[in-house]
Amino acid sequence: MPQFKCVCGNVFSLITIPNQQESRLIRNAEFEHIAERFMGSCDDTNVIFEALSDVANSVTECPECKRLHVCTSKRGAAPRYTVYAPEQEAKGLPD
Ligand SMILES: [Zn+2]
Repeated sequence: MPQFKCVCGNVFSLITIPNQQESRLIRNAEFEHIAERFMGSCDDTNVIFEALSDVANSVTECPECKRLHVCTSKRGAAPRYTVYAPEQEAKGLPD
């Protein structure tokens, strides 16, 4: 995916891998399962990367509006995104 178009209209490049716009979102339970499965028993980073990619959602942040586009489709399927926009400065939240 060399270019990404945000819902705000901004188009930006994702050619550089890794880049500053893409992240991964993984549930703690999945992270712990993979850590327990591979730590100390697997040196093949490709195997670990594949396992993480199967359960982690790709998250792309627009550098202009800071919206987060969370890819909710399975690997290999057409990408489908849920988009989250930043709230105004939050006040009154607990520390
Ligand atoms: Zn945007």
